Amino acid sequence: MRFSYSDRKKKHEETVNTNYDLLVIGGGITGAGIALDAATRGIKTILIEMQDFAAGTSSRSTKLVHGGLRYLEHLELGLVREVGHEREVVHRNAAHIVIPEKMVLPIIEDGNLGEFTTSLALYVYDFLAGVKKSEQKKMLTREETVELIPVIDSPLLKSGALYYEYKTDDSRLTIEVIKKAVEFGARCLNYVKAESFIYDDNGKIKGVNAVEVLTGKTFSVFAKNIVNATGPWVDGLRKKDKSLKGKRIHHTKGVHIVFDRKRFPVNYAVYFDTGDKRMVFAIPRQDIVYVGTTDTDYYGDLKNPDVTEKDVQYLLDAVNRIAPSLKLKKEDVKSVWSGLRPLIHEEGKDPSELSRKDEIFFSDSGLISIAGGKLTGYRIMSKDIVKIVSKRLSETDGREFVKCQTKNLRLSGGEFPFYPDTAGLIDYADRKYDEVKHTGISVNEFKRLFYRYGMNIDKISEKAFDYYIETRDTKKSWLKAELYYSVNYESVATLSDFFIRRTGMIFFYIDEIYDLMNDAAEIISEFMNWDEKTKNRNIEDLKKELKKATVF
Ligand SMILES: Cc1cc2nc3c(=O)[nH]c(=O)nc-3n(C[C@H](O)[C@H](O)[C@H](O)COP(=O)(O)OP(=O)(O)OC[C@H]3O[C@@H](n4cnc5c(N)ncnc54)[C@H](O)[C@@H]3O)c2cc1C
Repeated sequence: MRFSYSDRKKKHEETVNTNYDLLVIGGGITGAGIALDAATRGIKTILIEMQDFAAGTSSRSTKLVHGGLRYLEHLELGLVREVGHEREVVHRNAAHIVIPEKMVLPIIEDGNLGEFTTSLALYVYDFLAGVKKSEQKKMLTREETVELIPVIDSPLLKSGALYYEYKTDDSRLTIEVIKKAVEFGARCLNYVKAESFIYDDNGKIKGVNAVEVLTGKTFSVFAKNIVNATGPWVDGLRKKDKSLKGKRIHHTKGVHIVFDRKRFPVNYAVYFDTGDKRMVFAIPRQDIVYVGTTDTDYYGDLKNPDVTEKDVQYLLDAVNRIAPSLKLKKEDVKSVWSGLRPLIHEEGKDPSELSRKDEIFFSDSGLISIAGGKLTGYRIMSKDIVKIVSKRLSETDGREFVKCQTKNLRLSGGEFPFYPDTAGLIDYADRKYDEVKHTGISVNEFKRLFYRYGMNIDKISEKAFDYYIETRDTKKSWLKAELYYSVNYESVATLSDFFIRRTGMIFFYIDEIYDLMNDAAEIISEFMNWDEKTKNRNIEDLKKELKKATVF
């Protein structure tokens, strides 16, 4: 289904003249999930996002769909059970971007978890999360641990454990949810900011004054229910609504650093002690490995959380502690990213001790706000919110709504005509590759696209085939086809949207961007009718993003 930034001008009249059942503010994973859940229940929904979809925390996470083993430490058993089960649901519904990943947990001298506690914790984890037999934990000897990850050569290493999590691309997960919501009739607009609220004579909220961020055009959106799903910005909107009382958001910053995989050679993800009672991940992806995350209080700019030398050094020290022979230095760090956790403040607690559970706030005006939680649990959080909204709509409009529909709903790209296990996906990707290999694309390049777009790969392949017939240029044909898809089906509005959030290249293949950006800008200009000035501004903006990712 087409979902293009340019097309929305045509429907502007409809947007301003509709009284929606639900307006969702915020197009991260939480807002996206709410829009999808609501749209599938027949609730007339609009979502607005002031940046690009997922440009907030939802593109800056550790990119795991995980059961949250660490929450066992804090005895958050309910949370472990809920998100643990949810991993499997999210995997099944978006198997192209939620992939099982073997995780090695080295057990070290004086570490957070001893052998007995690790074994017990993983046993409880398997039980609570309902982990399938093939993915249940296995305890390892020191030799077995080193065999799996030879660079973990610290004399502190005693033994290890092997268990499974799922890796994902957070911003692609968000966009696949948004695309499905659009398929079900939700109107989802990126680059539209809610500036202020509109109230009726009784002080009840009935809409927002909004602005199209890229053009400055202002307009109003009206809705019977308004949900504030703005993550780190939640309290800012609660303040505008004059309802900021009681519990508040506590922002903590999480930084990740990226290494070339040749410099930090690991074949499995590792979850290891930092030496200060915390744990961090090292996650391999194609040619890179990223390590994170830090967890520190944050009071700065919410759009652009910084990365300090101290953040980088903390993570370097953690890696060098378990893999001392690597001697990793600041110069080995290829790139970085930083994100903010919108956690619920608890007096006297350190950042790492704060609960990751979500919280819903109700305002006298009728505004519903939601914050906290995990990428992994987005569907459950959405279900809770839409239950409240549908109850309200039943009371005011006398309408009946079906129960939550999303548990077995495949996300966009995830609609495989078979149960999407790993072997099935590999086989399917091979068959799809056979259909296009005559265009000269390598199997690796094709698989990268396949695991980015899932079943939607056909739309890209068809276009690439057409462009290839015209030009016989493999690289440009596939780039143009991918850009065609992201402009027409994924609401890309800027060059940075493509390289950061639709492809994840800034995180995983940053070097390639320098090669592709000028061609990409030329192609997008053609698709979006940009003049020279707009094209150059887009290139400059992307360069600024590249600088943020590489200068620290
Ligand atoms: C470092 C780090 C690592 C993490 N790792 C994991 C992990 O591995 N697995 C996991 O499950 N969870 C993880 N999390 C948690 C997870 O990323 C977050 O819970 C989730 O992304 C929050 O999504 P959100 O939609 O609530 O917020 P956001 O993604 O921030 O979305 C809120 C959106 O609201 C928009 N907005 C704000 N104000 C307005 C306005 N006035 N008008 C319109 N739009 C507005 C913002 O632009 C933003 O895009 C991690 C978090 C961090 C910080």
